[in-house]
Amino acid sequence: MSRHRHVRWLYSHQVRQVGFLRAIRLMTRSDIICKNWVSNIIDLLNMYGFSETFDNVLTINNNIFVNQFKTRVIDTYKSEWFASIESYSVLDMYKIYKPLHGYEFYLDIIPRSLRLFFTKLRVSVLPLRIQTGRHGRNYIPRNIRYCLCCRSLDIEDEFHFICICSYFSELRRKYQMFYYTNPSAVKYHLLLRSNNKAELVNLCKFINESLSPRNQILNNTN
Ligand SMILES: [Zn+2]
Repeated sequence: MSRHRHVRWLYSHQVRQVGFLRAIRLMTRSDIICKNWVSNIIDLLNMYGFSETFDNVLTINNNIFVNQFKTRVIDTYKSEWFASIESYSVLDMYKIYKPLHGYEFYLDIIPRSLRLFFTKLRVSVLPLRIQTGRHGRNYIPRNIRYCLCCRSLDIEDEFHFICICSYFSELRRKYQMFYYTNPSAVKYHLLLRSNNKAELVNLCKFINESLSPRNQILNNTN
């Protein structure tokens, strides 16, 4: 009889609950290689610090336990999320824009076709030289990752690209990005946390239209 059918047999014959649990505990002994739904539950309980729960199931209040387990799973996930962000230097700016874990309102107000541009800007994955110069054969020391569009000897980072670069001044006017008059890091950070639909949509259109001519300049330079 397979282990799975054995478990069902024990349960269907109304073996007392304690006996049933002891029986399936035997089937997950460490000296027996056995992976099934029971061992998966035990693994989960161990993972989240509830190792004793399985053996004391009769003394546990189900409602309280479910709430405790749910809270522990959520807290653990959030801790791992913060730790993962801390471990990537490319997300140094993202940490500032998103101090708390949670759903982002901009996902609902920016049209699907444009949303990706704002997301890429927030997580610093637009193909700007501050990022493309980080790796492999294209490595460039950080202090000389200059903007090749305006040739101002400014580092081409996200702030320069969105707010400063003179090459895209006309495009900023087209999309009424007056927000960037007298640009500052504070204004830029507020923009990245904005929920103003018109402002974000125009920003996304700006990014979308600027990437192609920018790539053209880089191709001609190389
Ligand atoms: Zn520039």
